Amino acid sequence: MKIISNVNELKNYLKIQMKTIGFVPTMGALHDGHLSLIKQAKKECELIVVSIFVNPTQFLAGEDLEKYPSRDEADKKICKLAGVDVVFLPKKSDIYGSDEVSLKAPNIRGFVLEGATRPGHFDGVLTVVNKLFNIVNPNYAYFGKKDAQQLNLITLMVKQLFLDVKIVPIDTVRESDGLALSSRNIYMSKEQRVEALKISRSLYEASKMIQKKIYKTEKIKEVMSEILVPLKVGYIEILNRDFETIETIEIGNTIVLVEALIGNTRLLDNIWL
Ligand code: AMP
Repeated sequence: MKIISNVNELKNYLKIQMKTIGFVPTMGALHDGHLSLIKQAKKECELIVVSIFVNPTQFLAGEDLEKYPSRDEADKKICKLAGVDVVFLPKKSDIYGSDEVSLKAPNIRGFVLEGATRPGHFDGVLTVVNKLFNIVNPNYAYFGKKDAQQLNLITLMVKQLFLDVKIVPIDTVRESDGLALSSRNIYMSKEQRVEALKISRSLYEASKMIQKKIYKTEKIKEVMSEILVPLKVGYIEILNRDFETIETIEIGNTIVLVEALIGNTRLLDNIWL
């Protein structure tokens, strides 16, 4: 496995490989969710590149950039065991200059849900993913459905900027008790972790209601918000796959999303129905 920090070194290495490249962008502190992306990439591609870069431009002032978990040595081992070919581990100065060209997230889809409370977050996400795509030039790139809005906006960027990469969405990996894996879960105390289970429970309840043919989204959101008490809920939304609000569930075209704050830890989760 190669570990490369320098952009030109990576570009030159990949240019001569003549293999199908699968790319998994991450911010490190790897867990089984990331591994599931890597495993799918291994099934579909001949050469796997994982990037580990805590992208400063997607953090707003006062967010957890400084304390975001960093586990480079453990991450390298995980990648090696998973059969990754190249780990790209750039420094901030490898990716960003001083007076930067940047991408803007779309005015509507980029400023609802996560974008409403974190304005500018998706400008940073799209800018870095576009840069990483230009460096790695992958055939396939793997993203978790857990970050549904991110996945939606990246798919839109690929389409609107006519990029030559296929985006592959991957199902959310959970703990056995339902908690969605996240690098931020380590911020929570034992008690907070128990509280956090209300998030996945509210989503399972939504799914059960839909199985019972309760299709009115207002009713489902009402029941979910009862389950989520006393958490500080950022949003409960029920959208179609184009990220438009719906009043009635469309089976096969619905995403139920929750954002809630547990202590200072913001957790996202969703279920695709
Ligand atoms: P991050 O390192 O948090 O930026 O995540 C890197 C990629 O892993 C993103 O595409 C995430 O959506 C994905 N990811 C994070 N958590 C999970 C999970 N529990 N299951 C599946 N994919 C995930």
